[in-house]
Amino acid sequence: MKYTELPTPCYVVDEALIEKNLKTLEAVANRTGARILLAQKAFSMYILYPLIGKFLSGATASGLYEARLCAEEMVRPAAAEGRKPENHIFSPAYREADFGEILQYCDHIVFNSWKQVEKFGFRAKAAGKSIGLRINPECSTQEGHAIYDPCAPGSRLGVTKDNFDMVLETAPENNLFSMLDGLHFHTLCEQDSDALERTLSAVEENFGQYLPHMKWINFGGGHHITRPGYCFPRLERCIGKMQEKYGLTVYLEPGEAVALNAGFLVTTVLETLHNGIDIAVLDSSAACHMPDVLEMPYRPPLLGSGHPGEKTYTYRLGGPTCLAGDIIGDYSFDKPLSEGDRLIFEDMAIYSMVKNNTFNGMPLPAIALREKDGKCRIIKQFGYADFKGRLS
Ligand SMILES: *Cc1c(COP(=O)(O)O)cnc(C)c1O
Repeated sequence: MKYTELPTPCYVVDEALIEKNLKTLEAVANRTGARILLAQKAFSMYILYPLIGKFLSGATASGLYEARLCAEEMVRPAAAEGRKPENHIFSPAYREADFGEILQYCDHIVFNSWKQVEKFGFRAKAAGKSIGLRINPECSTQEGHAIYDPCAPGSRLGVTKDNFDMVLETAPENNLFSMLDGLHFHTLCEQDSDALERTLSAVEENFGQYLPHMKWINFGGGHHITRPGYCFPRLERCIGKMQEKYGLTVYLEPGEAVALNAGFLVTTVLETLHNGIDIAVLDSSAACHMPDVLEMPYRPPLLGSGHPGEKTYTYRLGGPTCLAGDIIGDYSFDKPLSEGDRLIFEDMAIYSMVKNNTFNGMPLPAIALREKDGKCRIIKQFGYADFKGRLS
């Protein structure tokens, strides 16, 4: 199938572009010895898990379902080839009902508090798991995106230095600390390695005394490794320092970087209208199909378009829902838009299909793969049953 024959809306993920990102990540792993995992919450297109599992060391999950998906779609196919991708999990709080099954799938389990270690750690150790504790280095390195800052005051994510030390001081007789194999932090979002370097200094300052007792440290995600201009030498110095100074295995678990700029959302103009400005209604919704546009917020790149006023015809692009704010953004074009025109939003692989929803009874976009020969193959299409199936 060609692009022009795809049904819309449709996410199209480009296998060659994914592989390019994977090669960049694999090269970092090869140069440094760090282990790199896919954070599934950003990108769970599991038809590509066998490919991803060839280049990366495994995946990490935010809960039972992602852990199971990794077990089924990455670990199982790799076993047939004699490889064993790692299956990590972190959750702010595990559910008792899930934990037995999590133990079946995961080899690394990261807890968010000492109470969680106390509640589940013994079972995890008895099952032979490597266990870690998420720390909060209390070092905010990002401006603007408070909802993506786990170091913001009052954060529920990770153990602060005070809470970490308190357990050791007030209950030295318990063995919680000695159970830990690793420490985990995740504080970055779309950042370069300068932010990592600053964070790592805070980690050393607050938790350095504990690092020699660990086997591994996990730098979390948010490393924009596959974006143009990313500073590799500094990343590699950060990794090397933890390896040499403390003898640690270093994990990185990027989500975005795995599928950055590797997918598209193809959409059709349904209608144009005018109310002081030119407006086009698309068959894709910001609220349903690209929720980060509203949540983050950001303006997704659109192939062949310009900023408002840059080209002759400027339009406000909006979705087909009843939400007034279902606006993707203002874009300009060389020609006027008309009904039936196709538009292609870029960088739509990440945080898109994992977050979409059927608000307003919107159809879910189809999912297609652009294979290396340039041909598009529809992997999955959705319909009324997917909308109805989640309601009762
Ligand atoms: C979100 C998240 C990631 C991945 O973050 P990206 O910004 O997509 O790289 C990794 N680890 C944890 C714990 C996360 O919450």
